Amino acid sequence: MKEQLEAIQVEALEKIAGTDEIKTLQEVRVAYLGKKGSLTGVLKGMGKLSKEERPVIGEIANKVRDAITAALDEKNEKLEQKALEKQLEAEAIDVTLPGKPVNQGGPHLLTSIVEEIEDLFTGMGYEVREGPEVETDYFNFEALNLPKDHPARDMQDTFYITNELLMRTHTSPVQARTMQEYQGGKSFKMICPGKVYRRDNDDATHSHQFTQIEGLYVDKNVRMSDLKGTLDVFAKKMFGEDREIRLRPSFFPFTEPSVEMDISCKVCKGAGCSVCKGTGWIEILGGGMVHPRVLEMAGYDPKEYSGFAFGMGPERIAMLKYGVNDIRAFYTNDKRFLKQYHQA
Ligand SMILES: [Zn+2]
Repeated sequence: MKEQLEAIQVEALEKIAGTDEIKTLQEVRVAYLGKKGSLTGVLKGMGKLSKEERPVIGEIANKVRDAITAALDEKNEKLEQKALEKQLEAEAIDVTLPGKPVNQGGPHLLTSIVEEIEDLFTGMGYEVREGPEVETDYFNFEALNLPKDHPARDMQDTFYITNELLMRTHTSPVQARTMQEYQGGKSFKMICPGKVYRRDNDDATHSHQFTQIEGLYVDKNVRMSDLKGTLDVFAKKMFGEDREIRLRPSFFPFTEPSVEMDISCKVCKGAGCSVCKGTGWIEILGGGMVHPRVLEMAGYDPKEYSGFAFGMGPERIAMLKYGVNDIRAFYTNDKRFLKQYHQA
């Protein structure tokens, strides 16, 4: 019986060594160690052995089974490793091939301009504030000295949601909201960028939706010269140190006195050309000293506090700075247009 067992071991190990497929290896396992396998068959005959022989043969049988099992496991691992290597080889990727190009985006020209203006004013101590685009009649008009029957409302006709709710026509309501928040007791400098709406027909210079940035400075002893100095710094930083500014009288319901600001024409340097329509100047923005009524309505004592406000359209600034001649180019998302300004 001992010889029989040793013969089985030799035979099994030979077969395992000669196998190079996982499937065949499995068959070998069944043929020797399975329920009907040859080793199992020998072990079943152990009952016929004497008491003395049984542990001796039993020990040999265990050794044979362990040897066969170990050989099977080792071979199995080798074959699996080989199969894996083969698969990896078949699925190999050539990393030296050129990759698919990735489309890299950039900020929208309007975003860049708004951020540039924000940077400029935060550098002068202004905080950036935002407000709702759907606004109440009170904050959009009344708190800014535009009562319900005021004729200047005609210039700012907008989209009404209800009689009292509308799409804001300017970012000025953010100024009114800020003043009310400070309850007449705090000096502050703020700018408010954002989308505004008008009932305008779209053409090269008009859009029913556009962008505004307004600024407001409220403090004791704020003077017209402070406004002029601030706007001069803005014009020179935005358009170049060689630019001059001039203020012309104008009218806004929420400022008194009110001004329009022009900058000197870059092309003709003031002599007059087609860009500036022969005047030597280009209109940039509006502003003025905050109307005492507006201060009063927000809880500020106009005898103690004064302030200046200004407002501009980033579209107009971008059009002048980069020579864009149609405002609609900002909203139609033509990538050929937008790509030109990714580094702006
Ligand atoms: Zn000119």
